[in-house]
Amino acid sequence: MTGFETIGGAFQAGCVARVRCNGKRKNVPKSSRPCEFRADLDMQTLLLTRGPNFPLEMLPSRLMCPSCGGRNM
Ligand SMILES: [Zn+2]
Repeated sequence: MTGFETIGGAFQAGCVARVRCNGKRKNVPKSSRPCEFRADLDMQTLLLTRGPNFPLEMLPSRLMCPSCGGRNM
């Protein structure tokens, strides 16, 4: 089964996109724990802003963590 390669496919399948940040907290030198910020992405908003043919695998490179500013999501 395929069909989840694009935002449109995932949206039609009722998927919820979840992301987790793997970045280090650069702004907090004393803490060595990873950021681990988590969020659920709004598929409908993604669909409207990126278009249904936008590949899901490209999403992480377009995201920035609001907690640590990292892009390693
Ligand atoms: Zn982060």
